[in-house]
Amino acid sequence: MAEAEFELIRRYFMRPGNPDQQDSGTGVICDIGDDGAVVRLSAGHDLVISTDTLVSGVHFPPDTSAAAIGHKVLAVNLSDLAAMGAAPRWATLSLTLPDVDEGWLAAFSASFFKLADAHKVQLVGGDTTQGPLTITVTLHGEVPCGMQLTRSGAQPGDRIYVTGCLGDAALALTILKNTGVRSENQTALFERLDYPKQRIEVGLLLRGLATSAIDISDGLLADLGHILSASGVGARINVDAVPRSLAFKAFVDENADVYEPLNMALSGGDDYELCFTVPADQCAEIETRFKTTGIEVTPIGEIESQTGLRCMRSSGEVWEATKYGYEHFASDRTP
Ligand code: ADP
Ligand code: MG
Repeated sequence: MAEAEFELIRRYFMRPGNPDQQDSGTGVICDIGDDGAVVRLSAGHDLVISTDTLVSGVHFPPDTSAAAIGHKVLAVNLSDLAAMGAAPRWATLSLTLPDVDEGWLAAFSASFFKLADAHKVQLVGGDTTQGPLTITVTLHGEVPCGMQLTRSGAQPGDRIYVTGCLGDAALALTILKNTGVRSENQTALFERLDYPKQRIEVGLLLRGLATSAIDISDGLLADLGHILSASGVGARINVDAVPRSLAFKAFVDENADVYEPLNMALSGGDDYELCFTVPADQCAEIETRFKTTGIEVTPIGEIESQTGLRCMRSSGEVWEATKYGYEHFASDRTP
């Protein structure tokens, strides 16, 4: 790597404090500046690894700010580790940039590190190349041996929960596509698109309690579908119970002719909330544990032995989705 390139990495991605002395607790033995990173797991823990790529125009609108991209690329990976019940620890960052824009790099790295610091994540390496704007983070976390959450343990009779509210990000993206602007009256919705939350603390409190978990990135129907197929079960959900934010409800009520609220909330994607299942006799425990977090959790249905997903309205009518989550190679994709 040329000296000028390494200078950029030094300026925007290297920070004091590493490599580490034994007692600082980061587990980093060798980091940015060598050919590979060396880290040490806590005793009695397994390594959990997740990687996610954001491509401009596919995973974020091309006008997205550098700060939002820096946040989102880490947040989507944190969301995957949350769904595994893992504590995040170390990240690598692969950046493909069209050109060197120092203002962009400064805003991107400040936002990335703000979220990394909030979760005690250490950036230990990466790669920097030239090309169309594409960012990949690989996040490494740890979980006490055998305590990981997976998609495959849901059992008939388990209750299905989701955290937070669904559909805000999908609605913001649709508003942007339809109007071409990030409406200033809808900052709450655009905040969800640009700065997704992630549910690390939820993953930790679900350890030993949830029978399955997944993060909702492609839409509830698609992602719950992954739990059902991995677990070999089916489910029934009440689509009217799926939580939606006040901002979502207010906007959709005023524009009901243009936006389909249920499809948006159930199939929109980019929510980064968690969907998980819990044995019925543990529901009180779940609700108690959540009280300490201030995060909303809502029961939306039940796992059944009959395979397939049955969506009902509160009235008891069957509801049919007209859209099933985001697929990269779908023929009707409209980025
Ligand atoms: P080369 O490919 O020429 O050997 P490297 O890709 O190894 O150079 O980069 C040099 C060092 O900088 C490595 O330690 C690498 O992990 C780190 N690095 C490169 N790009 C980034 C980045 N975007 N963020 C963090 N570390 C990076
Ligand atoms: Mg390299």
